[in-house]
Amino acid sequence: MLTFPEGQHVIFDTATEFRLQMIREGVRNIEHVIYTHTHSDHCHGFDDLRAFFFQSDVPIFIHAARQHLDDLQTRFSYAFQNTAYHGTKPKVILHEIIPGLAFNIFGVDVEMASAHHGDATTSVFKVGPFVYATDFKSLPEELLERWKGQVHTIVASGLKMESHPTHSSIPETVAIIEKIKAKQGVITHLGHEIDYHAISESLPTNIQLAFDGLSVVCPLVL
Ligand SMILES: [Zn+2]
Ligand SMILES: [Zn+2]
Repeated sequence: MLTFPEGQHVIFDTATEFRLQMIREGVRNIEHVIYTHTHSDHCHGFDDLRAFFFQSDVPIFIHAARQHLDDLQTRFSYAFQNTAYHGTKPKVILHEIIPGLAFNIFGVDVEMASAHHGDATTSVFKVGPFVYATDFKSLPEELLERWKGQVHTIVASGLKMESHPTHSSIPETVAIIEKIKAKQGVITHLGHEIDYHAISESLPTNIQLAFDGLSVVCPLVL
């Protein structure tokens, strides 16, 4: 979740634990949701967006690549059928993200790039000097070159120490963070079998493993 200066919230993905996470953090408003892909661990909290529409009476913007929008509309078809029964569905406005074509959220440019995730494709995002990249096997070299020196904070997935067919490993993600010369890196989407403390101690000082409720600060411009 990104919290903007005036308290607006942008969410990356609605995980299965989305409702519990929002209660834990006391979040009462969400203006935008950006989807990385539609594996169930990233979108099955979708229905709980409806509580935020109850609260605000303002539809929530959903930003995703075409294939992921199509998938959301298939999986949660009830939300997109035209029934007069007010207020019981997640009320959203769909926005298709075009790779390479930036869009703007609260005055900050958002850039999307596609990455391989096994048989699936994920979208990775750069919001001003902040990057969110999860569930990728690798990131394109030209992207790392383009983002080099432009990133203050990156939150990126790293599943475990060993390599994996569809996910970047922790060492591979550390290499990405170092390659783009981010000031701080957070590694998320951790496998349950990792030794959190031992790995944490082995990381460079500007890189840490994520934990539930972790909060970091990133400027709006570099
Ligand atoms: Zn995942
Ligand atoms: Zn995935």
